[in-house]
Amino acid sequence: MMKNAYATYHAALKRGLLKPPGICEHCGNSAKIHGHHSDYAEPLKVNWLCASCHMQLHAGTLYENDVKRERQAENQRRYEEWKTTHPEQIGSFERELDRVFEDLFRSK
Ligand SMILES: [Zn+2]
Ligand SMILES: [Zn+2]
Repeated sequence: MMKNAYATYHAALKRGLLKPPGICEHCGNSAKIHGHHSDYAEPLKVNWLCASCHMQLHAGTLYENDVKRERQAENQRRYEEWKTTHPEQIGSFERELDRVFEDLFRSK
């Protein structure tokens, strides 16, 4: 499930369905931004955090409640919208996911 979530997440990034905002949602730093998943069942719902805030979040010193959730909903909306406006591309998107899976599998 986790592997599945990462594959979906990375394919969505590659396709431009998810766009890292360039600043950390928590502290506003413009360092390298990570996508954090609070639920791997929803791979497109991420919070955009700098490395420092991301580490603190996983260490339990940054409460998840503090992290804005609006962007998660925005990402999901963007994806749902894309699916309805690009029905012909859903097939190739699925195939791209398959390729990502194969790459992940080979790298193990
Ligand atoms: Zn930060
Ligand atoms: Zn994380």
